[in-house]
Amino acid sequence: MGLGEMVAMLEKRNCRMGSCSRSAITTLDRQALCLNHFLLRCYEKLEGFDPRGRKFSAEPVDLVSMRAFIEECSRKALDVSLQSENLSNLQRGRLLDILLWAGELFLLLRAPRLTLVQSAASSEVPLSASGASQGF
Ligand SMILES: [Zn+2]
Repeated sequence: MGLGEMVAMLEKRNCRMGSCSRSAITTLDRQALCLNHFLLRCYEKLEGFDPRGRKFSAEPVDLVSMRAFIEECSRKALDVSLQSENLSNLQRGRLLDILLWAGELFLLLRAPRLTLVQSAASSEVPLSASGASQGF
C-alpha cells in the first residue's frame, strides 16, 4: 500500500475517543485517533511505563508490551510530524517531546536492570537524606 492510499484510508475515519468527531490522523493500538488524542494517549502510556514516575506499589512493568508501545508510538509520532503540514508549534513540540521520551525509555529497556534509583543527581546525596526528605 502506498503512502497516499494510507492517508486516504485514514482520512475517512474518525477519532475513536469518546465523543470526539475529528478525523483520525493516525492509529495507536489499532485505534484511529486524531492528533490531540494521539498525543494524549502517548503521554498517558509513556507516563505509565516510565519507571521514574512509578510508585513502588505499582504493578510490575510488562516489558514486552512496553517495548511494543514505545516502538509504535515513536514511529507514529515521527510519521505524523513528517506528514502533517498544519501542525502548530505546540503540537510539533509535543511530538518531539514524545519522540525523545520514547527514545529514553527505549534506552532504559536495554539497560541490564530497570533500576533508576541511582541517577546522576541523587547519587551524590546520602541515601538516608534523600529517602527521608523526598518520601520515596
Ligand atoms: Zn480525538
